[in-house]
Amino acid sequence: MESRIKTLDLLHYSDLEQFLKNIKKYNDFKEGKILCKFCNEPITLDNICAILLRKDDFIFLCNKESCYTNYLQIQSENW
Ligand SMILES: [Zn+2]
Repeated sequence: MESRIKTLDLLHYSDLEQFLKNIKKYNDFKEGKILCKFCNEPITLDNICAILLRKDDFIFLCNKESCYTNYLQIQSENW
């Protein structure tokens, strides 16, 4: 029953760095291996918009308007 999506507020880059280290994604992030769920562009500090937690998997989202729209849609659809 863990289908709800949590959105993490990314207030400070230092928090983000710590968070990525906690979930063991920091090296992938630095190497450009973290891709946007929707457009498959590498996520960077300049374009990161949100991180979603779905079950045990983290989903990254860039700040393109189209990706944000998709994100709002999956939130409303109980994705
Ligand atoms: Zn995107």
